[in-house]
Amino acid sequence: MTALSCHSQASPNFGERKGGAVPDMIVIHYTAMATADAAIARLCDPEFEVSAHYLIDVDGRIVHMVDETNRAWHAGAGRWGDVTDINSRSIGIELANCGSVPFAAAQMDALEALLHDIISRHSITPERIIGHSDMAPKRKIDPGPRFDWRRLAVQGLSVWPEISAPRKVDKDAFLADLVAFGYSPETSAEACLSAFRDRFRPRHSGPLDGADMALAHDLAMRFPVDRAARTA
Ligand SMILES: [Zn+2]
Repeated sequence: MTALSCHSQASPNFGERKGGAVPDMIVIHYTAMATADAAIARLCDPEFEVSAHYLIDVDGRIVHMVDETNRAWHAGAGRWGDVTDINSRSIGIELANCGSVPFAAAQMDALEALLHDIISRHSITPERIIGHSDMAPKRKIDPGPRFDWRRLAVQGLSVWPEISAPRKVDKDAFLADLVAFGYSPETSAEACLSAFRDRFRPRHSGPLDGADMALAHDLAMRFPVDRAARTA
């Protein structure tokens, strides 16, 4: 249980982590709803069959809904590396945000505190703190281009690519590098590029270019996805 001061609002929407899996990933979401309270009501409503371990309101209030030992229902279908049951292997954090406004400073501060707190209790490396859109690029776009991944990376709470020079444009090599980093090989090039850009080159558009190539290659070289199983 977290050492942070959390409000508790228990959700009935959870199960056991399958096959004795332990969390070694964190998935970050936004709620896409108008208010945190509306999102909490949905995440605690058995009819909707969705939940997350935590929700963070815009004022930094952290709401604890599912115990970390249990499997919350936030990720759905998707894949990261060889993991397809992301819910069994992850802790899900929802940020109250409708999807079209910046993330509040107090909310980001609380997220960083919560991430530090979670990784102090589990074996979770920075490259395994990902967005919902990373594990489900076709289906999901949260936390979106306004989410500041670089800020997290500076504190060891995520990773950020560095480039020295652009590389030759080659779609197959780009996809191979993203798969080495963790993206699903079943994802289309367009969906992969869109998820990758939202996270690593927000507000950049246009066709695949040499900078995309270099960034993806750096991620593949420095942060290749760990394909090992994790069980208690
Ligand atoms: Zn999500």
